[in-house]
Parts: sequence; structure tokens; C-alpha cells
Amino acid sequence: MQLTNRKVVVSHKELSFAERMYLPAVAKGMAITLSHLFKKSPTIDYPKKTRPMSATYRGRHVLKRDENGAERCVACGMCAVACPAEAITIVAAERKKGEEHLYREEKYASSFEINMLRCIFCGLCEDACPKEAIFLTDRLVDAEFEREDFIYGKEKLVEKIDKRIDITKRQTQAVLDFKKIPGLRHNTLFDPKKQVKH
Ligand code: SF4
Ligand code: SF4
Repeated sequence: MQLTNRKVVVSHKELSFAERMYLPAVAKGMAITLSHLFKKSPTIDYPKKTRPMSATYRGRHVLKRDENGAERCVACGMCAVACPAEAITIVAAERKKGEEHLYREEKYASSFEINMLRCIFCGLCEDACPKEAIFLTDRLVDAEFEREDFIYGKEKLVEKIDKRIDITKRQTQAVLDFKKIPGLRHNTLFDPKKQVKH
């Protein structure tokens, strides 16, 4: 039974001495190799250099501070519940008097851990957060030798006061527009007196 119409013509031409020594094939291979010396390398010297990433790339997380430098996270656990990989572990604590400059609201996360080996960078934690406290960023998770080094705690997740991470490009226009509505500002404490009817 004939399966295809393809045919191969078999040549019985006698190979020359050079061909039997693979010399034309070696020369052709060397020419290809040498030609790569003059081409721009498609690889980059990571981690010294990194490729520019999209502003909406879903890389490692950041826990944001508010405009006064206080941590936004209130340890509500919505991100942990939304996480399909069960990568987030949070321990909640109550803010003490005098800690208002550290934590935005009465409750905060005394411990916040993300297991980067479990995380699938889906971004559901970012979507679930009612406080705009957690965002994925264009930064990559570093390579490590030990598994426990992939469990990121607050020291790696909370943004540094003097090195803020701009996440405005991650927010949809709908969210940005919503935040412009006076009295219904996203993520401010609800004050019925300030509510404006539309
Ligand atoms: S990005 Fe997805 S998998 Fe990773 S911590 Fe957030 S919700 Fe979990
Ligand atoms: S990051 Fe957001 S969703 Fe997660 S515990 Fe903190 S406030 Fe809640």
C-alpha cells in the first residue's frame, strides 16, 4: 500500500577523496560557525543584564506602602484564599499605639510569606487584594541553590521606602477612573458624609 507520493532519488555517484574525508561538510560547518562571530548574539549576560519587560509582566511580588510609607496590607487573607497554588501564608497582628506610621490600618501582617516555587504567577492575589497592597512586578525571581531561599518573607516583599516600585501601569483604566471619583476613592476609609451621588 502506498502511503505518500514522496520519492527519494538514490544517487550512486562515487564520493571523491575529500568527500570521504568529510572535508566539504567540515568547511561548511566551520563557515556557519564563523558567520555567528559577526552576528548579534541573541543571548544576554543575565543577571548582569536583563531584558526590558512589559509593565504588565507577572514577575515577583511587591507589598506596597502608602504615600506616607505605611504598609498597606491589612492581613485580610483575600490573596491567600484566591491563590490557586496555596503559595501565600500570612500571620495577622494588631497595630499598637504609636505604630500608625508603620501600618496603615489597625490590622497588619506580622508575617507574610510567598513560596515562589509554588507560585504560578497568575496574578489572582493582585486581583483579590482590596487594599492595593500586593502587585506582581516586572522583576524576576532570583535563582537560588536552596529551596527555602525561594520562600520570600516581608524583608524581600515589602517595598523599600527609598526605592518605590511604580505599579501605575499595571492598573486598568477602569480602576484609575474609579479612583478619580470624589467620595468613592478606591481604598480610602468609607465616609458616608463625603459620598457624592452620580
Ligand atoms: S501570583 Fe497566583 S500563584 Fe502566585 S501567589 Fe499570587 S495568586 Fe498565588
Ligand atoms: S495583600 Fe491584600 S489581600 Fe493579601 S492580606 Fe494583604 S490586604 Fe489582604
